[in-house]
Amino acid sequence: MKWILQMYLLGFILIGGTYLLGRQVPCKQILTYRIGEVDSRFGITQEEIQGVVEKSILPWEKLAQRQLFEWDQAHGDIAINFIYDERQERTQELSKLDNEEAKLNTKQSEIDTTYTFLEKEYNQKSESYEAEVRAYEKDLESYNKEVSRLNKSGEATESDVKRIDKESERLEKQSVDLEEKRLVVNTLANRLNKLAKNEQEVVESFNAKVDQFQERYQGDGGVFDQGDYGGKDLNIYQFQNKEDLAVLLSHELGHSLGLGHVENPRSIMYYLMGEQPNTPVLSAEDKEAFASICDQRNNVSWENLVEIAAFVKDKLESQKAFLYE
Ligand SMILES: [Zn+2]
Repeated sequence: MKWILQMYLLGFILIGGTYLLGRQVPCKQILTYRIGEVDSRFGITQEEIQGVVEKSILPWEKLAQRQLFEWDQAHGDIAINFIYDERQERTQELSKLDNEEAKLNTKQSEIDTTYTFLEKEYNQKSESYEAEVRAYEKDLESYNKEVSRLNKSGEATESDVKRIDKESERLEKQSVDLEEKRLVVNTLANRLNKLAKNEQEVVESFNAKVDQFQERYQGDGGVFDQGDYGGKDLNIYQFQNKEDLAVLLSHELGHSLGLGHVENPRSIMYYLMGEQPNTPVLSAEDKEAFASICDQRNNVSWENLVEIAAFVKDKLESQKAFLYE
């Protein structure tokens, strides 16, 4: 138990000491970086990364009014790595789904326009067809009545026969005409049904993709690390586009300057990404954090060293107390 406690204390001193000493360095000398391991699945070139890194450095250097970082691909101290795993895979799949959704919406509105147009035509034609059928049936009924009346009476004159023949011819022609109209109306109805089916299929195939996505990435949507900085390595795990990558890099490079997290969701150094502006812009809290680290550079060394020495001495003595207990 004691040993573990002593080790813990020693570890704490070392980490604390390194941190206190380490964080003064960025404000005294230029930090060098290089593009390290970049997984090709991110689909970003070294040149593009270089451009985004430069953009992400800008707000810090503007604030400091001097150069803070320098690209040194051969010997740079900080390696900027792009590590691909499920985080980025999920992001890419989600962006594919977004594109699919946009395509689906276009397709749907195309179908809807055609459907509305055809539906109007269908309604007009089927209404007029039905009216004509009703009129035809009425005429046919009168014709049949007249024929049967004349047959019964047996007194049909030549003019009656001529009239009846003429009417019969007219009705037959109308029947052919109506059949043609019926086919047109049916074709329209078929086209409408096909369109509705087509729309349904498009929607169903999209929904299947959404289901597939949710099944695959179930429960992965919570808070996760998009990037981290660990002294020599600055790792990027997830970003949507170059804009949020720039903000993310500004944040991690802020850590490399010795800055911790600050309040205000719009701050670059806020622990969570989401509410920062599209391009890296420092908030009052970011500026304050930077000032508290870098503006002490002229008086920090001696005072802080004395402080660290006292701290170490104190801790070593308390360890001794444990050892000789
Ligand atoms: Zn952070």
